[in-house]
Amino acid sequence: MRVAFIGLGRMGSGMARNLLRAGHQVDVFNRSAEKAEALASEGARIAGSPADACRDCHAAITMLADDAAVESVVFGSRGVASTLEQDAVHISSSTISTALARRLDVEHLKRGQRYLSAPVFGRPEAAESKKLIVVAAGPDETVERCDALFDAIGRQTFVAGREPWQANAVKLCGNFMIAAMLEAFGEAFATLRKGAIDPHLFLNVMNTLFASPVYANYGRIVADREFEPAGFALKLGLKDARLVLAAAEECESPMPLASLIHDHLLAGMAQGQAEMDWSSVAKVVARNSGLEG
Ligand code: NAP
Repeated sequence: MRVAFIGLGRMGSGMARNLLRAGHQVDVFNRSAEKAEALASEGARIAGSPADACRDCHAAITMLADDAAVESVVFGSRGVASTLEQDAVHISSSTISTALARRLDVEHLKRGQRYLSAPVFGRPEAAESKKLIVVAAGPDETVERCDALFDAIGRQTFVAGREPWQANAVKLCGNFMIAAMLEAFGEAFATLRKGAIDPHLFLNVMNTLFASPVYANYGRIVADREFEPAGFALKLGLKDARLVLAAAEECESPMPLASLIHDHLLAGMAQGQAEMDWSSVAKVVARNSGLEG
C-alpha cells in the first residue's frame, strides 16, 4: 500500500521502518526534519508537509505526542484532512482522548474520508522489533482493509469495536493498569528498601506470581531505578492519566486510583521529572518515604 507516516518520534520511527521492511511505499513527515531524513536511506520518501505526505496515499498513519499535535497536523493548513483522497483512511495510533477520536471520525466522514483509531501497546524497542500490540476500532471493512498495515507494525491486532473511540478507551484503561503497577512497585520497593531487603529478590518472587513481560521489564527498571533515558516520558504518562479520567468522567465511572496516580505523576513533573521515564513515579513514592531528596 502507499502509506503516509507522520510523527517519527520514539515510537513512530520504528513503526515507519517496519512498514518499509514489509514492502509498503512510505512517505514520511516529521515536524523536526532530521528524524525524517534518517529514514530516506531505508527507502522512505521525505515529504515537505503532512498534506504532501498524504497526496495519493491509501492510508495516513499519525503517531504524534498528544491531542494538540494531532489536531494541528490533521486540521491545520496543509494538514491531513485537506489532502486525503475520498475513501482513503486516516489511522491515528497516538494515545489521544476518546473525545478527539469521535471528532476525527465525524470530520473525516464529512469529507468522504475514513477514520480508524489504532493505538498500540509496547515501548520503543517493541516498535522497532515489530512486537507492538495493536488495538484497532472502526467499521469492519475499513479495519480489514488496513490489516496488512497492522501486521507490518505489530505482532497481534485486537479489534475493540466498530466505533473508533472504543480503541482509545481500551488503550487508556490499559495504560492505567500499567501506571497502577508502577505505583504499586514504587510503594513496595520503598517499603522493602527501608527494611534493607534486596529489590531483586522481591522481583523474582513477583515474577513467579505475575508471569508477565510488563511486570518483568518495568519491575527491573524500578528495582534498578533506571529512569533515564525515557522509553515513555513521564509528561506523556501524565497526559494519559488526564485522558483516562476524562473518559471515566464521560461515563460517570469514578476511578479513584487513577486520580491518585495522576497526582503522583503531577508531583513528578513538579520535581523536574517530565523527561524521565514514567516509571520514575516510583521516585515520588520513595520521597514520600523519606528515601530520596
Ligand atoms: P515522542 O518521542 O515525544 O514523539 C512525539 C512526536 O510527535 C514527534 O514526532 C514530534 O515531533 C511530534 N509532535 C509533537 N508535537 C507536535 C506538534 N505540535 N506538531 C507536529 N508534531 C508534533 O513520543 P512517543 O513516545 O513516540 O509517543 C507518541 C505517541 O505514542 C504518544 O501519544 C504516546 O502516548 C504514545 N505511545 C508511546 C509509547 C512509548 O512507550 N513511548 C507507547 C505506546 C504509545 P518532533 O520530533 O518535531 O518533536
